[in-house]
Amino acid sequence: MSGLKKTIIRAGLETLYFSGAHLFLQPFVSGVGVILTLHHVRPGRPGQFQPNRLLEVSPAFFSKVIRRLRRSGIDLVSLDEVYRRLVEQDFRRRFVCLTFDDGYRDVMQWAYPVLRKHEVPFAMYVPSGFPDRIGELWWLALEKVIAQNGRIGLTMDGEDCHFDCVTVEEKRDVYEHIYWWLRRRETEEELRDAVRDLCARYGVDMAKICDDLCMTWDELAVLARDPLCTIGAHTVNHVILRKVSEKEARTELAMGRSVIEAALGVRPDHLAYPVGDPTSAGPREYRLAQEAGYKTATTTNPGVLFASDRDRLMALPRISINGEYQQMRYLSVLLSGAATALWNRFRRDEAA
Ligand SMILES: [Zn+2]
Repeated sequence: MSGLKKTIIRAGLETLYFSGAHLFLQPFVSGVGVILTLHHVRPGRPGQFQPNRLLEVSPAFFSKVIRRLRRSGIDLVSLDEVYRRLVEQDFRRRFVCLTFDDGYRDVMQWAYPVLRKHEVPFAMYVPSGFPDRIGELWWLALEKVIAQNGRIGLTMDGEDCHFDCVTVEEKRDVYEHIYWWLRRRETEEELRDAVRDLCARYGVDMAKICDDLCMTWDELAVLARDPLCTIGAHTVNHVILRKVSEKEARTELAMGRSVIEAALGVRPDHLAYPVGDPTSAGPREYRLAQEAGYKTATTTNPGVLFASDRDRLMALPRISINGEYQQMRYLSVLLSGAATALWNRFRRDEAA
């Protein structure tokens, strides 16, 4: 996300919070419940260059969020229960559902004990290739390449490009530039080839990143045995589904699930689209997820749930607990739905 957008979100959140507008807006936008997205839960690391910082929250903040939610009287529910409430239109009580993407080991280490202590249901969306140790966490590989070098080169659109990335500012700019260039590639193969090329040139071992960060099947089996945990599917290779053929998308959706079933003995009924924004999952992916027989499929399109989401179970919105905004006052605004209403209005203006 660009710095400008971040600033607008932050300014928007501050304005909403301090004006109390979210309380005023609440009856109109708060919906019936919300699905939250988290990735990493771990202590902050030193170093100024952390372009993926938004994907992690500290254990202390996480534990505060859980205690606040428990005190709030809002129901904390599983994805199966979200599905039931939407299908039966049972909205007597507001609800929150916690989901974690990608199956990072730090979630087991730092979040799981808190979730158990407070008996909070949660879902873990696992790309089967990560515990199979064939995962390419390319956004982290790119971070590593830039962190470890003062100058990098790669072929972009047929041209040899070179970037100085000595200072933290430069590293941030180069990351943003290459990250979004990669996201604009037409096919997943082009994206992966460019990152593999960078890793080969600069000696970054993608298999090691996967090994260091992602849970093994044995670790996942511990979670899978716990009735609090729902294991969800997240494709095999964490592909941006819109960038692959329909045949390949179908295979990713079916295989990711079968491999989990074979390894853990539980068949995932719920799916999260990797990356999950409109450039990653659209009408074709919603149809394929439906045909694959999933009960729900979540995006990362920001929003709270409404009764009408019964009619779009394959495209449910979520709200990301963004590591850049680890303050309870932001969470209150996000949960009220006011911030996503503002964000959607901003996006409409931008698109117009
Ligand atoms: Zn993911």
